[in-house]
Amino acid sequence: MRGQVWKLYLAAVTAALLAFLAFPVSGWAQVGWQVVVGYAAVAALLAGPRRDGPAGRLVWWCFALGVFANTTGILVEQVDAVLHGENFPSVADGFYLALYPAVAVGLAILIRRRSGHRDRGVLVDATTVTTGFGLLAWVFMIHPAASDETLSVLGHIVSVTYPVGDVVLVAMAARLGFGRGGRNPSYWLVVASLVTFLAGDAAWAVANQLAWEPAGAAERSLSAFFLAAYTLFGAAALHPSARTVGQRVEDGPRGLSRPMLATLTLAAWIAPGVLAIQVLRRQVTDGMAIALGCVALFGLVLTRMAQLLREVEQQAAKVRELSRTDELTGLPNRRAWTAELPRAMERARRAGLPLTITMLDLDHFKQFNDSYGHPAGDRLLKESAAAWSGQMRAVDHLARYGGEEFIVLLADTDTEGALQVVERLRAVTPLGQTFSAGLATWDGRETSDEIITRADAALYAAKRGGRDRTVVADTLVGDVAVVDSAVADPA
Ligand code: GH3
Ligand code: MG
Ligand code: MG
Repeated sequence: MRGQVWKLYLAAVTAALLAFLAFPVSGWAQVGWQVVVGYAAVAALLAGPRRDGPAGRLVWWCFALGVFANTTGILVEQVDAVLHGENFPSVADGFYLALYPAVAVGLAILIRRRSGHRDRGVLVDATTVTTGFGLLAWVFMIHPAASDETLSVLGHIVSVTYPVGDVVLVAMAARLGFGRGGRNPSYWLVVASLVTFLAGDAAWAVANQLAWEPAGAAERSLSAFFLAAYTLFGAAALHPSARTVGQRVEDGPRGLSRPMLATLTLAAWIAPGVLAIQVLRRQVTDGMAIALGCVALFGLVLTRMAQLLREVEQQAAKVRELSRTDELTGLPNRRAWTAELPRAMERARRAGLPLTITMLDLDHFKQFNDSYGHPAGDRLLKESAAAWSGQMRAVDHLARYGGEEFIVLLADTDTEGALQVVERLRAVTPLGQTFSAGLATWDGRETSDEIITRADAALYAAKRGGRDRTVVADTLVGDVAVVDSAVADPA
């Protein structure tokens, strides 16, 4: 039942709104209608999610306070008009304006709950949108209000505060829209409410620009924007998904969806668009503001570009690192080792120093897996890699060549030296396990493939010879590696 309440509420209020638009109500009847719709939204917001914790409930209470103040403003304005006649500013403006801080605080809490840390990309995107719409508000609302000579000082302050409040709401809506967090129905209802409210204010601004005083059905249509905004807030609170709208979403890449990109594009076009309008009207009144807006927007777009480039570079570095590392042991993998060998050979050739490679393969590893389980086998691979790494010099390269096969590149090391290294490795092999090794010293002419083939053949010979031993490869004859019998048996 509770899950359906929002539908009933939305249906009832939509019917009331349509009736409001259809019937030529005015005066007290019109005010009464609006106040009922507004207070219904307040009730819905207060009845909002019950199991969302204090911070979650505070969000809806802030919205409730804002809608309550705004709705009460309608009532107060009517009473004031009856008592003192039409005047601006009036006490009613205080009530209307109270919506801005209340809703802004509610949104700030909601945004904080949904995304734990500050995301600089979100800030830049939200600032871009705010700059664009802020310029729009400046040119069409703030500047005219500030320079309206018919207004008192208080009148100036009040009429400038409305558009400033709108810009603050745009900023918060952008933070909410670009930020992390799930997009459930309650979220979309909140967004729709903000957009509707801002559209209502924009519609009034357009009416003011055209020096048009809407009355009758036109005035009711403009009022309907605000009533619809209240109602969407109420529906957002009643919707079952309101309980999870404040849920934090863990880190991960924050995508820029098409609507987000479209919003950014639109925001960036506002400055040149406004300039174009003023040029067409042959009256450029805000050249400096537009210029500053362009400077800010270009700066923001470039900042975002730099951020994205840095992100791409970091990801590329990470991918490069991953593609060169063996996940299990953390050693370089075959790809990384194979790329290093020709470089090491080139260095050895220039310096006239020896170079030896050794291929190691754990003995009866399949049996070890079968006896102790695959995870134990993994542990043996890891511990062997760690133990052997401890025996290496900085210039040596130990890599996991595949399965239980490893390969070592020993720079500035001849066969004799390499045999000693292999014996050190043998001594530290964990859990009493053994390995066979095939060793090949570079002859100064062969290619990297050829020296690997020789080491591999030597390893094969060590296996055939009974395992737990090292075989030194002879030089390559034709395509066949000949292995000599120099066997270092630790026994
Ligand atoms: P040999 O002495 O002739 O080398 O015998 P072996 O059992 O060591 O060699 P064989 O090639 O028959 O089997 C290798 C085994 O290594 C089979 C495979 O399941 C296991 N293996 C390969 N990669 C991994 C791994 O990442 N983790 C574990 N636990 N086992 C692996
Ligand atoms: Mg093996
Ligand atoms: Mg093997």
